[in-house]
Amino acid sequence: MLKLESVRVSYGAIEAVKGVSLEVHEGEVVTIIGANGAGKSSLLKSIVGLQPVSAGRVMVNGRDCTKLPPHLRVGLGVALSPEGRGVFADQTVRENLMLGAYSLKQSQAANEAAIEREFRRFPRLGERQNQLSGTLSGGEQQMLAISRALMSEPRLLLLDEPSLGLAPLVIRDIFDAIRGLRDSGLTILLVEQMAKQALGVADRAYVLEVGNITVEGAGRDLLNDPKVKAAYLGVH
Ligand code: ATP
Repeated sequence: MLKLESVRVSYGAIEAVKGVSLEVHEGEVVTIIGANGAGKSSLLKSIVGLQPVSAGRVMVNGRDCTKLPPHLRVGLGVALSPEGRGVFADQTVRENLMLGAYSLKQSQAANEAAIEREFRRFPRLGERQNQLSGTLSGGEQQMLAISRALMSEPRLLLLDEPSLGLAPLVIRDIFDAIRGLRDSGLTILLVEQMAKQALGVADRAYVLEVGNITVEGAGRDLLNDPKVKAAYLGVH
């Protein structure tokens, strides 16, 4: 479903992603783990077109999207739940969700059905549907960011650090939701610093270190990899 070929992302003289190749197959959950500044967000932005690549190719379902603008990539079924959530603070929960469905240009009834689906996924959002999103808790904003991405009915969901800044119990809820999405067959690329949780939910995983993939394998295998354990799981 997704194939990156030697993707490079640069900010002026700084090269944040230095030739990354990876694949995500239909129905898989793939995670990219890595420390602060490893280039994880830059890589996700290049997949949705929010950051141009300086070299390499981004292929979605066999189609070369490298030069395609972001809104056309949404049309191909790629949606991003961004780091820091990016909810529109002065819009209500319901209005944020409606914006997520914008690209589908479907009937109001279909939008309402999709919103109800998201309220079943995250009942907390339903309870707060008319609340301004800027006043939601961090966990609720994260739920909203995921639901808003799902409103476009993606075939590939990109999640950028959904656990960032959240309390342990809320992180558990978010990972439960990711497990639910996985079990429904959705293809997911998950970027995380919470390596243990991410590897636990992923079929396959890549470790990104200063712009390069240094380790790849099955999620379960990486949980037991001595190098990964020492560097990312706090086990020595
Ligand atoms: P984090 O987990 O801290 O968000 P990350 O792995 O997502 O880190 P990126 O945000 O992709 O990493 O950043 C990779 C490198 O690119 C960093 O050195 C960062 O300073 C740099 N960088 C990111 N965005 C920009 C930008 N807009 N302008 C200049 N440099 C940037």
